[in-house]
Amino acid sequence: MMQPEPLNAFCVDLEEWWHICAADTPYNDPATWDSAPPFVEKDTETLLRLLDETRARGTFLTVGWVAEKYPRLIRRLADAGHEIGCHTYFHRVVYEQSPEEFDADIARCLKVLREVSGQPVNSFRAPGFSMKREAFAYAYPILRRHGIEVDVSIVPAARDHGGVEGFTRDPFLLRIPGGLPLGPAQPTSMKCWPVSVMDFLGRTTPFSGGGYLRLFPLPIVRAGYRQNHRAGRPGMSYIHPREIDPDQPRLKLPWKKYFKYYVGIRGCESKLRSVLNTYRFTTIAEVIASVRRWPEYELVGGDIRPLAPGAVAQPAPPPLAAGRAA
Ligand SMILES: [Zn+2]
Repeated sequence: MMQPEPLNAFCVDLEEWWHICAADTPYNDPATWDSAPPFVEKDTETLLRLLDETRARGTFLTVGWVAEKYPRLIRRLADAGHEIGCHTYFHRVVYEQSPEEFDADIARCLKVLREVSGQPVNSFRAPGFSMKREAFAYAYPILRRHGIEVDVSIVPAARDHGGVEGFTRDPFLLRIPGGLPLGPAQPTSMKCWPVSVMDFLGRTTPFSGGGYLRLFPLPIVRAGYRQNHRAGRPGMSYIHPREIDPDQPRLKLPWKKYFKYYVGIRGCESKLRSVLNTYRFTTIAEVIASVRRWPEYELVGGDIRPLAPGAVAQPAPPPLAAGRAA
């Protein structure tokens, strides 16, 4: 009998068109954000229609500032059965923040998201996928103490900010010791699901979202899903609202960054539609609930390592509350 194809998660990093990491723009200071031309509401409406049309659900990893400004939009997403996740309040690179700054940002973001969405909000993505070794030691204990149960920030491939080459591609259970600064008092664990990558021309590369989805022709994107599904691994797609809007204002960026930021925007919506029609997409919470195998890893000395054989298991976090049913 053929195994059913694994479920896939559809993620939207819900942010404005100027929320770009590690670039000098007129919008680096949040004090300028209120006077910038807004696009996020209109572009998210387009994504919402696309999900509706393809009968897919997804997780909107939301910048706290956006949720505070557009509470009705977040409420509509939640009411439509989508999951709301956390993408920090100010969209700053994780490893450039002190533990205290990161802690305060996460607390502020989750307070807004939980109030506005009426959901528990327990999934997290770092801005610009900036979860790398420098941040492991403090970021995971802080996230866990604030009730985050699933992280989808690690890219197991080379990347300009973030990216952990050679890292595991499978979802895993991360054990977190108790009593770390700003972390939980007792030992606990959370689930981590690295962003989908594929082997392509002898390299490991993301393929299913952002600039990679916009740049790669559809047959390569499909080959990426096939590789992961054959390994019994769910796929993860991700997109930003601005990526489907050819009318957005253009930022002045160094040419390489400009190319990555704006390539393929015109064809992105139809490419997404095709992917959404080909595979089954739902929320992170629902995919996580469908994963049976959870290899265990531990956070030791600022690194994440496979659990030493014979180590005593810690209690797993309670089951995830999925976003409200459609
Ligand atoms: Zn982002």
